[in-house]
Amino acid sequence: RGPTAEELLDGLNEPQRAAVVHAGAPLLVVAGAGSGKTRVLTRRIAWLISERKAHPGSILAITFTNKAAAEMKERVEALVGGRARIMWVSTFHSACVRILRKEIDKLGYKSNFSIYDAADSKRLMTLVCKDLDLDPKRYQPGALLHWMSNQKNELRDSEEAAKDARNSFEETMAAAYALYQRRLREANALDFDDLIMHTVHLFQAFPEVRETYRRRFRHVLVDEYQDTNHAQYALIHQLCADDPELVDVEGQPTERVEPAELMVVGDADQSIYAFRGANIRNILDFEQDFPDATSILLEQNYRSTQTILNAANAVIGHNKGRKPKRLWSQAGDGARIVGYVADDERDEARFVSEEIDKLTDDAEVRPGDVAVFYRTNAQSRVFEEVFIRLGMPYKVVGGVRFYERREVRDALAYLRMLVNPADEISLRRVLNTPKRGIGDRAVACVQALADRERIIFWEALRRADEAPGLASRSLRAIEGFVGLVEELQSMVDAGERADVILESVLARSGYLVELEASDDPQDATRLENLAELVAVAREFSDDPVAGPSADPADIDAGQVAPGLSDFLERVALVADADQVPDAPDEDDGGVVTLMTLHTAKGLEFPVVFLTGLEDGVFPHSRSLGDQPELEEERRLAYVGVTRAQQRLYVSRAVIRSAWGAPAHNPASRFLDELPVDLVDWRRTEAAQTRWSRPDLASGSAARLGTPTEAGRRNFSSAALRADAAAKSKPAREIPSLEPGDRVVHDSFGLGTVVAIEGVADKTVASIDFGSEGVKRLLLRYAPVEKL
Ligand code: ATP
Ligand code: MG
Repeated sequence: RGPTAEELLDGLNEPQRAAVVHAGAPLLVVAGAGSGKTRVLTRRIAWLISERKAHPGSILAITFTNKAAAEMKERVEALVGGRARIMWVSTFHSACVRILRKEIDKLGYKSNFSIYDAADSKRLMTLVCKDLDLDPKRYQPGALLHWMSNQKNELRDSEEAAKDARNSFEETMAAAYALYQRRLREANALDFDDLIMHTVHLFQAFPEVRETYRRRFRHVLVDEYQDTNHAQYALIHQLCADDPELVDVEGQPTERVEPAELMVVGDADQSIYAFRGANIRNILDFEQDFPDATSILLEQNYRSTQTILNAANAVIGHNKGRKPKRLWSQAGDGARIVGYVADDERDEARFVSEEIDKLTDDAEVRPGDVAVFYRTNAQSRVFEEVFIRLGMPYKVVGGVRFYERREVRDALAYLRMLVNPADEISLRRVLNTPKRGIGDRAVACVQALADRERIIFWEALRRADEAPGLASRSLRAIEGFVGLVEELQSMVDAGERADVILESVLARSGYLVELEASDDPQDATRLENLAELVAVAREFSDDPVAGPSADPADIDAGQVAPGLSDFLERVALVADADQVPDAPDEDDGGVVTLMTLHTAKGLEFPVVFLTGLEDGVFPHSRSLGDQPELEEERRLAYVGVTRAQQRLYVSRAVIRSAWGAPAHNPASRFLDELPVDLVDWRRTEAAQTRWSRPDLASGSAARLGTPTEAGRRNFSSAALRADAAAKSKPAREIPSLEPGDRVVHDSFGLGTVVAIEGVADKTVASIDFGSEGVKRLLLRYAPVEKL
C-alpha cells in the first residue's frame, strides 16, 4: 500500500532529497540545466501526498506547457496512485481559467467567456485601429498587441497606461488598449494575458476570494520559474506570501492562516522569454520577497556528457552579471561535438539527415532519439523537404498549426458562439459561412439596430425584423441562421457531448455539404481536417477527467462530464510545445523532432543538432547591436546545448536564402565561444570554399581567411548575392509530372500536382500547396522539383 519513504527518495542525491523533504519556509531550487529540478519537483508532490498526508486537492503545481503538466501528473500518479488525479497540475493559463470560470462574474463577465487566441486578438486589434482611424503605418496591430501585452504582464490596465503615457504616441496606444478591452468585455471574451491579469485583479479586489484559494492551496510548486512574468509572479505572491490583511472567506477579519508552502525551481541562465515579459529578477529577488526562504543548490548534472556540459559552461560564461556555476557530470567525456559548415541550407539539411541515417545504422540511435533545433519556424521547411525525399520519419513542432487552419477556425467559431453568443468575432465569422445570403448590407442594418437599441449583435440578429432597411430576403436568411443557432444551443444546454455538437454544427450549417460539393482539391483536405477535429472532440469527451476546468471537488463527487466549454478551453490553450512527440518506446523507433529552440525548454534528447549557427540567424539579427538581447540569445544557445544527452552537432550554412534573396552570414559568435578542443570540424568554411565554390575561392580568397576570421566580416555584397542567385537558377529541364505527384517549390514548399495542361515548354501544372493554396505554374520557369 503506497510507496515507502525510501522508495520516494530512491535515485536522488543529497541536495535533491533535501528539497523533496523540505517543510515550512519557501524553497528556491536554483540549478543548472539537467540537474534534476523537474524530477525533484515531481517527487516532492508525491512525497507531500504520501508522507505528509497532503490532500491532493490542496496541491497546485505550475509547469510551462500542458504536455509537461500531463507528464508530471502521470508520474505522480504512478508513484502514489489515482487519487493524485485531482491535483491541479497545469500551466499558469489553465489554472487561471479554472479560477475565473468560477469567479469571473465578480468582474462583470459571464462564466462562459471565450478565450481569444493570438489570431482573434489580432483581428480585434485591427478593428480597433480602424475604429480609431489610426494611421496604419504608425500603428500596426502587431506592434500594438505587443505593447499591450507588456502592459498586461506588468498588471497595468489601460487607465494606468494612459496616465503613464509619455507622449502622444503612447497616449494613442493606451486609447487602443482601452477600446480593445471594451470590445473584449462586450464580447465576454478574454485574451491570453487577461487570464492572468484578471485573476490577479480579482484577488486584489476581492480578498475573500483570494482567501478561499489561499486556504485551499496548501502547497504551491512552480517549475521553470525563471520564465515567469510580473503578473504570474504577483499571482504566486498573492497565494503564498504571508498576508497582513487577514480576512476570512466572508471578508471578515480573522485569525492568521499559515501561508501555503511554496517551492520554485529554475535556472536564471535559461530565461528565454524576456520578450514576453519574463523577469529574471523574479529569481534573483526571491530571497528578498520571501525573507525566510531557503535555497538549495543542485550541481550535478544527470543528463549530458562532460563534453556537452563544458561547451554549455563556456558559452554561457560569456554573459555578464550572472552567478557563476559550473555543471559537472559523472557520465564521462563522451563523444566530441561535431561541427559542419554547409554550402547552403539545403546542404545543411542533407548533412543532418545523412548523419541521422548513419547514427541509426551504427550507433543504435532511433529516429525518436534525435532533435533538430533552429532559431525560427521558417527554417523547418528545408529540413522537411529533404527529410521527405530521404524517407526520414519526422515531426515538426509548431509552425502552421492545425488550429490555425481556416476550416478548423470556422468550426471552432461556431462552437464558441454557441457557448457565448456575445462573442462577436466568432459570430460574425460564421454568420455567412457557408454563404447563406447575409451580406455586408444586411450586417450593417443589424449593426444599426444594435447601436440604436444598445444591445449585443446577437440580440439584434434575433430582433432583425426591427432592423431599419433590411431586405426581406436577408431577413429570412437571418431568421434561418438564428433558428439554426438556437437549435444547436439547446444541445449545448442539454449537456450534449462536444463531438456530437460539432458534428451537428458541420452538418446542419451546410458547411460539410459545401465542401463535399466543391471540386477544389483543397476542400478535400479541409474535410480531412474537420474529421480530425471531430476525432479530437470525441477523444476528449471519452476521457472524463480530461477537462482542465473541471473542479477537483466536483470530480471527487463524480459529477463532472466534460462539456463543450471544457473542450473549447482545452483547444484554446494548446501551445506549440504540446505537440512534442512522445519518446520512442521499445517496438517503435519514433520520429525525429524538428523544433525551435524556444519550444525545446525542459526537454532532453540523446542526439541534438543545433543548426543555422550564423550571426544574423542565431543570434537573431534583431539582437546584434543590443547587449541584453544578445545575452538572451546566448541563454537560448545554452538551452539548446544542454538538451543533448550524448551527442551534439553544430552547423551553419555559408549561403542562406532568406525570403528568396541568398544572404551570406558570418559564423555565429556562439561557435567561436565553444572551446576548440571540444569540436571536431567535419568541414570548415575554407575547405568548403575550395571544394565547391571555385568562383568564391579565387575572387574572395583574400577576404576569407580562417572560418572564424571570415565569421567576423559580413560580406554580403551585391556581387556575391547576384552570383549566388545566378548559381541557384540553372537552365532547367521541365520535370515530367502527373496528377498525384508530390513536388517541392522553392517558395511554396511541398505540394501535390492536381492537373497538367499543355505540353513541352508550355506545360502548366496546377499544384496544391496546402495552406498556400492551389497555384497554376508554367513549369518551364517554376522552381518545382519532383519528389
Ligand atoms: P532543465 O533545466 O533542462 O529543465 P532539470 O533540472 O529540470 O533540467 P531534469 O529534467 O529533472 O532536470 O533531469 C534531467 C535528467 O536527469 C532526467 O533524465 C532525470 O531523470 C535525470 N536525473 C535527475 N536526477 C537524477 C538522479 N539523482 N539520478 C539519476 N538521474 C537523475
Ligand atoms: Mg526541468
